[in-house]
Amino acid sequence: MKYLITGGAGFIGSNLARYLLGLGDNITVIDDLSTGSFENIKDLEKNKHFKFVLDSILNKSVLEKLIPSVDAIFHLAAAVGVEYIINNPLRSIEVNVQGTENILKIAHKYQKKVLITSTSEIYGKNEKDSLKETDDRILGSTTINRWSYSNNKALDEFLALAYFNEKKLPVVIVRLFNTTGPGQVGDYGMVVPRFIKQALLNRNITIYGDGEQSRCFTHVHDVIKAFDLIMGSKKCLGEIFNVGNPEEVSINELAKKVIRLTNSTSKIEHIPYEKVMGANFEDMKRRVPNVEKIQEFTGWKASADLDTIIIDIIDYLRKTGV
Ligand code: UDP
Repeated sequence: MKYLITGGAGFIGSNLARYLLGLGDNITVIDDLSTGSFENIKDLEKNKHFKFVLDSILNKSVLEKLIPSVDAIFHLAAAVGVEYIINNPLRSIEVNVQGTENILKIAHKYQKKVLITSTSEIYGKNEKDSLKETDDRILGSTTINRWSYSNNKALDEFLALAYFNEKKLPVVIVRLFNTTGPGQVGDYGMVVPRFIKQALLNRNITIYGDGEQSRCFTHVHDVIKAFDLIMGSKKCLGEIFNVGNPEEVSINELAKKVIRLTNSTSKIEHIPYEKVMGANFEDMKRRVPNVEKIQEFTGWKASADLDTIIIDIIDYLRKTGV
């Protein structure tokens, strides 16, 4: 198969490209390297089934050239990372809304299947145990930049579903829950690689707030398997799937786990949110996926637990240098 991966030089996209090339597929990546990096795909450049296009998904004419020649599109290009979104509000809205609209419009013109990546941020402040795809979204004020991301991605989902229902475009939506793993950088938030790096350098582990907020972390390799299964299934078309590992951990527990697994002498430091995120910031307390739907449709279930994820990242950082 021939795939276009938008955002393919990012952390998830580059892992997906590597995986699909391994299966014998042909891959074209488009990425503007705003948060992705050429380092992530440097090794793939030698492969004759791989092509990298340095450009933005806001550039419709380049999409018009790339999309007709592929069979399907993994749309991963997005402004991501809480800190990036807060610091680049306008760019984030443009890329996450206009960019997705461009992809869907041109995919429709050439009738290409699209997998849209969305996010668990969709659920906002809904703290319910085991969030289902049909659960309510609970959001804060528009004066708080963080909620922009949730709304932009929700608009992507509405658009994708409208294209499916009204125009019969084959689309599928996945909501990711804190994907992490080797190669992820901690520059824009991304707490796991950030804590591991701090621990390996024996620096303070910086916990924002009281650390009682929790998250569920998913290994990037599990996420990619989910993408592959969902893309390959006709039954999944027009559907939304949570993709996550339901193992919940508080940020305080995460910090302790990282210190233990790295044998670090790092100390834990609690930093008020205002100091790092500014006065206008709200965090979500928890975000736990219900994954019954994807299991039922594809048999997928996350296989890597949090310890495995942390150990994989530690090994990677020790090998490549912190
Ligand atoms: N966090 C933290 N210290 C850091 C980076 C993040 O305590 O150096 C917290 C952050 O406030 C959030 C959680 O870790 O509660 C997960 O943050 P991340 O940016 O990885 O993802 P999010 O789930 O917020 O999108």
